[in-house]
Amino acid sequence: MPPIRPRTDLETHEVQNQPSAREGGDLWQDDVILRHYASRMGADQGDLASFGRLMGHEDLREAGRVANRITPELQVFDRAGRRIDEVTFHPAYHDLMQAGLEAGYAARPWEDKTGGHTTHAAMVYMMAGVEPGVSCPMTMTYAAVPSLKANAAIAADWTPRLMSRRYDPASRPVWEKSGATLGMAMTEKQGGSDVRANSTVATPDGATGGDEYRLRGHKWFCSAPMCDGFLTLAQAAGGLTCFLVPRWTPDGERNGIQVMRLKDKLGNRANASSEIEYHDAFAWRLGDEGKGVKTIVEMVHHTRLDTAMAPAGLMRAALAEAHWWVKGRSAFQRRLIDQPLMQSVLADMVVELEAATALGLRVAKAYDADSEPDRAFARISVALAKFIANKRCPNFIYEAMECLGGVGYVEESPMPLLYREAPLNSIWEGSGNVICLDILRTLAREPLAGEVLFAELDAATGADRQFDLALKDFKTRWPSIPPEAEARWYTERLAVLLQGATLLQHAPDAIAQAFVATRVAGDRGDVIGSASYADSRVILGRLKV
Ligand SMILES: Cc1cc2nc3c(=O)[nH]c(=O)nc-3n(C[C@H](O)[C@H](O)[C@H](O)COP(=O)(O)OP(=O)(O)OC[C@H]3O[C@@H](n4cnc5c(N)ncnc54)[C@H](O)[C@@H]3O)c2cc1C
Repeated sequence: MPPIRPRTDLETHEVQNQPSAREGGDLWQDDVILRHYASRMGADQGDLASFGRLMGHEDLREAGRVANRITPELQVFDRAGRRIDEVTFHPAYHDLMQAGLEAGYAARPWEDKTGGHTTHAAMVYMMAGVEPGVSCPMTMTYAAVPSLKANAAIAADWTPRLMSRRYDPASRPVWEKSGATLGMAMTEKQGGSDVRANSTVATPDGATGGDEYRLRGHKWFCSAPMCDGFLTLAQAAGGLTCFLVPRWTPDGERNGIQVMRLKDKLGNRANASSEIEYHDAFAWRLGDEGKGVKTIVEMVHHTRLDTAMAPAGLMRAALAEAHWWVKGRSAFQRRLIDQPLMQSVLADMVVELEAATALGLRVAKAYDADSEPDRAFARISVALAKFIANKRCPNFIYEAMECLGGVGYVEESPMPLLYREAPLNSIWEGSGNVICLDILRTLAREPLAGEVLFAELDAATGADRQFDLALKDFKTRWPSIPPEAEARWYTERLAVLLQGATLLQHAPDAIAQAFVATRVAGDRGDVIGSASYADSRVILGRLKV
């Protein structure tokens, strides 16, 4: 659509000093920071260049806005009163799903090419700024692949469809479809973090002793209930077990999955998060009875990568908007971007964004590597990256919103969408405390994870005295794993040190030094912008297109 050309000269006044709306652009080419770290971490720059062009196009950006405004609807019955449990979406939602899946958002990491997870993580980052809700089913489709391996026959049947790069939204048995999506249903009313409290019951279907079961119970959160199947946990005779529940049974009937209602959420509005019940729903067992957590944790490990990367994408989108605005707006006879205090605010945000992006992609690189130390590093570092980026994200977006003044608080600006999304990635796939306790557990149970993590930190020493001192202080303060009550403090410090180490090894000097001075050595106040950047212009140069 050609841009609307508004009339500026109105009867009572002339509209002045209001920057035009930021139109579509190229999310890859225009993002110096993303390109810098993605290339250093071995992502596929060709794939990302195409993805950035596609997702930055004004048509898809508009699709994101529409999919958020015109939200999904649940249709429980058809007009004759028969149950259908279908969710309908605006076509804009389908456009985004199709664009993302065809570009390889879910498939790319599992294809026989290098840099898959890093490329995927950069796609997550770009998608987050366009429409974060559609990322949910695409992320779950990506992440489910390794868990399916626990049942070779199911993996052989389903994985090619998950990797097909085709979006087929039809509600039909999966064998009639060219592409499929998968969701996840773990959380129950009585406990989400503590999945061992799950009450859904699984009973073998027939006396064959095979992998077919019937499930009875509920799930309190099931995002994307229009997926073709759901990885779920239920109590079998041998304990908590992982299952794949297809939407259609092998004999071509609607499975006994009833969608009770869609959640009315703070944000993430394009995504149909639902409450469901299993009414003797047909399911295939994945892995042995009693090994449910071990099986589904493979999926959780991969969704966590996306929850660590998405906040960086949200921050980037908010900062790009703020930057655009302050370049075009003046106050007190000077452009906002030329005012020293506004420069400090933006520079401080650039430094934060660099840290989140660099660490997220560094973690993704470990997913791409295949050695046992890399796998151990991925397990611990993804939790650290998820914790720190998500704790920073809401406040960051609020500050970016404030750069726009009043207009940032208005729904026509992209800021409310980003702000509502900001807390989500911290809550799911391990809320803050759970992540911190997970880190302590990993360090206690997997000595290799601690070894590779501290080796990464040690490798960054020698470049900045403040970093070296801070790392020494950390080791003195916590010579061993701390008590639970200190887990947040410990995690925050460790995550900041890891961000510092990553920047010292991969960022331009000005960025690494600024991060170490302000975050690692703590030469700053608590709020964004309460820092002194001698070379804020150099730092702001990272926002230049
Ligand atoms: C938009 C959205 C979409 C979602 N989609 C899905 C989905 O598709 N599938 C799915 O299965 N789930 C989904 N969830 C659910 C989500 O994963 C859970 O809400 C989350 O795991 C937390 O579980 P809970 O809500 O039961 O909170 P609880 O487990 O009750 O936790 C409440 C608080 O207590 C803290 N806590 C827990 N244990 C401890 C402890 N030992 N010490 C200290 N603090 C602790 C937690 O960190 C948290 O802050 C979704 C959630 C949201 C918001």
